[in-house]
Amino acid sequence: MSKSIVFKVGTSTLTHKTGKLNINRMETLVSVLSDLANAGHRIVLVTSGAIGVGVGKLGLNERPKDIAGKQAAATVGQCELMFMYDKMFSQYGHKIGQLLITKEDIEAPKRHDNLVNTFEKLFQFGAIPIINENDAVAFEEIVYGDNDTLSAEIAVVVHADELIILTETDGLYDDNPQKNPQAKRIRVVENIDDTIRAHAGGTVSSFGTGGMVTKVHAAEIAVNEGIETYVICGSDPHDIYRLMNGEEIGTHFKAVKK
Ligand code: GLU
Repeated sequence: MSKSIVFKVGTSTLTHKTGKLNINRMETLVSVLSDLANAGHRIVLVTSGAIGVGVGKLGLNERPKDIAGKQAAATVGQCELMFMYDKMFSQYGHKIGQLLITKEDIEAPKRHDNLVNTFEKLFQFGAIPIINENDAVAFEEIVYGDNDTLSAEIAVVVHADELIILTETDGLYDDNPQKNPQAKRIRVVENIDDTIRAHAGGTVSSFGTGGMVTKVHAAEIAVNEGIETYVICGSDPHDIYRLMNGEEIGTHFKAVKK
């Protein structure tokens, strides 16, 4: 059965500690997504990495702390990111389209409708939409926003069946697995309540913007719209096949049935 799936990949999954692209991982991700598209699934990719890759490409020692610095780095990194995605997806015969989005594009009704139409056309054209925040102009997004939330909102816009968030840890744990070896992975979340939200507070991704808190928040948006949501480890994107074959990897946030 073909599905409509939104994938979200974070900076720490896409880059090495140097800030440069993890080409091997990106290649694997692109080959898996291309293959799923070939199998008839409708694929959307929400990607972070613009600021991180920009920092690497500009040879900066660290991520700029000021807004203008982050925005400038994002403009450089976004080009590199899309150049690489275009090259890699083209290798497998796929076309991609870039959408740089701000909160307003989703929240203002007219812009929202326009966005829905653009997605629809891209699907008709057989192109894979690749999305990031419009970091160069959306400073509010850089300061408060994150691509986890954006990916959930995009999943709602495209009426996705599933949202799959690829990150550093293999799901949500009941305690911080880096500090507590007894911490247990929560395989299925039937209901996102305060206990689940509290667990999310204990696990923080070192390079991404949001850590687990924003992933649980994203899951909450998506599951309430009937979208099955998964948080899995992105270190080997082949794991996406395992997930799709029904293996219990990561954390599955179950869609709320209406
Ligand atoms: N949009 C930012 C970037 O591409 C990252 C946001 C996030 O990490 O969630 O660099």
